[in-house]
Amino acid sequence: MPIKFYNTLTKQKDEFQPIRKGEVKLYTCGPTVYDTAHIGNFRTFLFEDLLKRYLILKGYQVTHVMNLTDVDDKTILRCNSDHISIHDLTEKYIKLFFDDLHRLKIIPADFYPKATEHVPEMIDMVKKLIDNGYAYKSEDNSIYFNIKKFEKYGKLANLNFAEQKTTQRIATDDYSKDHPQDFVLWKAWKKEDGKVYWESPWGKGRPGWHIECSAMSNKYLGENFDIHCGGVDNIFPHHENEIAQSECANNKPFVNYWLHSEHLLVDGRKMSKSAGNFYKISDLTDMGFTPEALRYLLLSGHYRTNINFSVDKKHEALKVIQRINDFYKRLLDLSSNCNKTDELPEAYNLFIKALDDDLNTPEALAVFFEWMRNTNAHIDNNILSDKDIIYAINFIDEVNVVFDLLISRGFRIPTKIVDLANQRQTARINKDWIKADSIRDQILKLGWIIEDAPHIGYKLKSVLEK
Ligand code: AMP
Ligand code: ZN
Repeated sequence: MPIKFYNTLTKQKDEFQPIRKGEVKLYTCGPTVYDTAHIGNFRTFLFEDLLKRYLILKGYQVTHVMNLTDVDDKTILRCNSDHISIHDLTEKYIKLFFDDLHRLKIIPADFYPKATEHVPEMIDMVKKLIDNGYAYKSEDNSIYFNIKKFEKYGKLANLNFAEQKTTQRIATDDYSKDHPQDFVLWKAWKKEDGKVYWESPWGKGRPGWHIECSAMSNKYLGENFDIHCGGVDNIFPHHENEIAQSECANNKPFVNYWLHSEHLLVDGRKMSKSAGNFYKISDLTDMGFTPEALRYLLLSGHYRTNINFSVDKKHEALKVIQRINDFYKRLLDLSSNCNKTDELPEAYNLFIKALDDDLNTPEALAVFFEWMRNTNAHIDNNILSDKDIIYAINFIDEVNVVFDLLISRGFRIPTKIVDLANQRQTARINKDWIKADSIRDQILKLGWIIEDAPHIGYKLKSVLEK
C-alpha cells in the first residue's frame, strides 16, 4: 500500500515519494519560548511525533529538525514587562519545554536550532532576496518582502486577492489572511528592543519571525526537502511566507509535502496563551493524567479534526491505558516458554493500512482494540496458540513504536531491537565497522541507544530514559 498524506499545498491526499529513497527530511515549527508550551502546542508536537514514528516503522531514515523561536515580537514584549534578559527568559522556557517533551515520550529531534544562533544565515538569505529583486528597504531601514513580485504568493493558504482588504506592509510577525501584505524580513532597531539587536548591512536590527524557519531549514535540510509541519494557524502567514522567502532566494521548490494539524479546543475555542484558556502538561500531571493517557487523548482523534479537550476525559483515558497494559502483561506471562519470531498477526496489516491512509489513527486504534478484544477472549477460552501469543506481543510492540501507550516501567526491549543489536555484535566481531555503525544509527532511529559494555558485549537504553 502506498503512503498517502493530505498535502495542504495541493489540497488533496498525495502519494508520498521521498526525494531520496529510504530517507525523509522533516521540519517542524517549534515553540516560541517566551512562556510554557501548553497542551494545544503539544497536540501538534505529538502529531509530529506520531508521523515521525510511523515513518521510522515504515523503514525510513528520518532527519528531523525542530526550531526554537527564541526571538520575536512576543518574546521582546515579555522581556520588557518582566525586566529580564532574552537569554535568561528563553533558557528557562527551553528547559521546561524539554522536560515536557521527555515527559510525553516524544522522540527527540536530530537538531533543535535556536533562532538567535542563526542570525548570519538569516542575513545571508535577506541579502539574496534583495539581490534577486524580491525585497526592498523601507524608510526606517527595515527590509520587506514584496509579495507582488512572487506570482505564486498565496498558493498554500488559497488567498483570494480579489477580496483582499489592504495592500500596505506589515511590521508585526502575525496578521490575518484578510490582509496579505508585504511582510518584514529584517526589523530595524527601535527603542523598545533595548539590548536585543544584531549588526547587519542595513544597520542594527533583528530578523522577522518567518525568515528564521526558512534560514534554519535551509541550513539543516537543504533547499528542497520532503515534509514540513505545524498547526493550521501556521499556514498563514508563517508558512506562506516561508515558501515565498525560500523559493525566491533559492529559485527552486521549497517543500514537497505540507502537513498541518487542527487545533485543540477548550469549550469550543482554540487553546492559546493569549486567550488564557490553557493547561500546561505539569497542571495535568498534577491532576493525575499520565503521559500515556495524554498521548492517547491527543492521538486518538484524527490530526485533521479538532479535539475538544476536557479534564473529564481523564478517567476513560486511564482505563484504556490500563486495559492495554494488563493485556500486554497477560501475554508476556504466557510467553515464557514460547519460541520468539518476528511475525505478526493479520490484524497488523489493517492497522498499517489505516495509518497509510493519511495517518488515520482512529481507524488504526479501532482495528487494534477489536483485535485485542478477540485475542483476550481466545485467552479466556484457552485457544490462543504459542505462536499466536508471540505474534500478539510483536503486534503490541509495533503499535507501541507509533503510539507509545505502554507504561514505561523498565522499558522492555522489543525483539526487533535485540535482533539488530546482535547483528551489530556480529559485524563488530568481523571488524566490519561501517556496518556496525550503520546498525547503531538504525537502532538510534528506532528510539534506542546501544553502548558497548565489558563482559556482556552491549547495553541497550531507551532514548527516553534519562
Ligand atoms: P507557538 O509556540 O505559538 O509558535 O506554537 C507552536 C506550535 O503549536 C505551532 O505549530 C502551532 O501551530 C501549534 N499550536 C498552537 N496552539 C495550538 C492549539 N490550540 N492546538 C494545536 N496546535 C497549536
Ligand atoms: Zn516556523
